[in-house]
Amino acid sequence: MKKIALEEHFSGPGFGKYMNVMKGLFEGEILASMEELLSDFDEQRLKAMDEAGIEVSVLSQTAPGLQAEADVVAAVQSARRCNDFLFEQIQRHPSRYRGFACLPMQDPVAAANELERCVRDYKFVGALVNGHTQGVYLDDRSFWPFWEKVQELDVPFYLHPMNPFDEPHVYSGRPELNGAVYSWTCETAAHALRLVFGGVFDDFPGLRVILGHMGEGLPFMLWRLDSRIKATPFAKALKRMPSEVIRRHFVVTTSGACADNPLLCTVSELGEDNVLFSVDYPYESSRIAAEFIENAPFSESIREKLCYKNAERVLRITL
Ligand code: MN
Repeated sequence: MKKIALEEHFSGPGFGKYMNVMKGLFEGEILASMEELLSDFDEQRLKAMDEAGIEVSVLSQTAPGLQAEADVVAAVQSARRCNDFLFEQIQRHPSRYRGFACLPMQDPVAAANELERCVRDYKFVGALVNGHTQGVYLDDRSFWPFWEKVQELDVPFYLHPMNPFDEPHVYSGRPELNGAVYSWTCETAAHALRLVFGGVFDDFPGLRVILGHMGEGLPFMLWRLDSRIKATPFAKALKRMPSEVIRRHFVVTTSGACADNPLLCTVSELGEDNVLFSVDYPYESSRIAAEFIENAPFSESIREKLCYKNAERVLRITL
């Protein structure tokens, strides 16, 4: 079945230096092979897509990307260069690639302007940001002008994992817990919940946020989130229960998560219109991801939604 994949990464010129934070997270040879694949836009990437039946990949700068840049001016300039570079690559294979903008969240107004430029001039289909930027999370009030622009442009915003700002004590002495194994999931789910409890979706009801990795565990948590928040002093301030906000404003992808039971839970909790196939290339295998979704226990009409129809709707593209 044809597919659209939307957590598919590349690394642009000058972004290799940010990968230093990944060094401890990958075995050396694996990281080296990833770095090679991240800079390829031709044979290897297209071959992997063809073998998996992926007609279109939405490309994004790999983590941590600009979120690791401490200098605001450098971030603004690098975002522009990165997006120009991505547009050049897309133009070389216009039927196969789309883009998510790389944004300098260090300056929320500059990020809004860069997103507008990418959507207007380059027809990018949204933005992907790698978690907090230098410890600032996206429920910070300084981002309200940014969210206003995202809503106005009516494009989705992909919240991708990155390392926690500081290491929680529970991870100390256990480096196995870092990164994609575990800590990214908690970090990203907590970041998403900051948006929910921070009222971002109350003030910007048109926003749609994409989470990878089958929703970073949140679909499994919806009942408990509602049940337990009701028992806190914070419930009075909430306009809607967290489950309602998550079901309305979030869609999730299957990136890096190829198991039937979590998928059944995710589709059951969020609905068949809100789950989208993805790979997380090159960190995960396009072939394994494709075999998983082709064989998942769903009717063909639901499978079509998961493989490409939901993505067509969310990204406003047509295969
Ligand atoms: Mn990823």
